[in-house]
Amino acid sequence: MSPFAKRTSDSVASLGEERLIAAIRRWLGSATPPAPHGIGDDCAVLPPSKRRQAITVDPVIYGRHFDDQVPPRAVGAKLLKRNLSDLAAMGAEPTAAVIALTLDPRVSIVWLETFYRGLAACARTYGVPIVGGDIAQADGVLAANLTLLGQATGPRMLLRTGAEIGDWIYVTGKLGGSIAGHHFSFKPRLAEGAWLAARAETLAMIDLSDGLAKDLRALTPKKAEPSIIAKFVPISQDAVRLAKKTGRTPLAHALSDGEDYELLFVVSQNANHFAFERAWHRRFKTPLSCLGHFVQLGHRAADTVELGKFHGYEHLR
Ligand SMILES: [Mg+2]
Repeated sequence: MSPFAKRTSDSVASLGEERLIAAIRRWLGSATPPAPHGIGDDCAVLPPSKRRQAITVDPVIYGRHFDDQVPPRAVGAKLLKRNLSDLAAMGAEPTAAVIALTLDPRVSIVWLETFYRGLAACARTYGVPIVGGDIAQADGVLAANLTLLGQATGPRMLLRTGAEIGDWIYVTGKLGGSIAGHHFSFKPRLAEGAWLAARAETLAMIDLSDGLAKDLRALTPKKAEPSIIAKFVPISQDAVRLAKKTGRTPLAHALSDGEDYELLFVVSQNANHFAFERAWHRRFKTPLSCLGHFVQLGHRAADTVELGKFHGYEHLR
């Protein structure tokens, strides 16, 4: 479905700003609380929190993150979920969201309604109130930026830093081939992230958006490199299928496709990792894989993966 209307009467231009905002409130329904805690005042007012706060922002842009093939409901849900995945990576939980829309006046009302209904359904699923937003006009553009607020689920938030040489590298789920559908259908690992933040043996964490080969660099301590075993990398069926078409290996897809939205994290070398894995499997059905550990730079065993050969998604290139 094209986001652009053929007739002016089907486009947001026919509504004008005030009626469009009223329509958006209707489309969001119970996902937006009444003002001043939701849309309708100059700012949204949030209750105080004793816990540490987290904030993140991510966009979806027409021509970049979605096209005419993607149902608008899925675009709305993905906008929220990719932000939720960032909170999951800190072991945080969502508290409120605001959305800034930039759109061409020719954008179709039906497209936009379906987009907002998809966003609202996702917001209800994850208990995130959409408390405000903004609309700006720009010719030829359709983009939505969602800013998500969250708070710690326990005494600490997990950062990307904290790993040392010798610590174990773990990942959730299966990797690669997300273009086949996973990049829209994924479930942000919020429960897993909160559980990991509550375990003292977890030292650092990131969510996989640009591919393991690239994202793992953010967890790697100075003067160290990851030593990971190829057969321990969890490869998705989509990566296997995609490899048959592209001629690349399933491993290459698993390490560099991106948009896995899984959690990549580090467990202390001093922890009992068998006990850790048992506790995980008692709590979650989500697959868990130990890929290897960090070694001193230049000390990687010959039979481990040369991650430098695989490139994750590079922005601004
Ligand atoms: Mg992230």
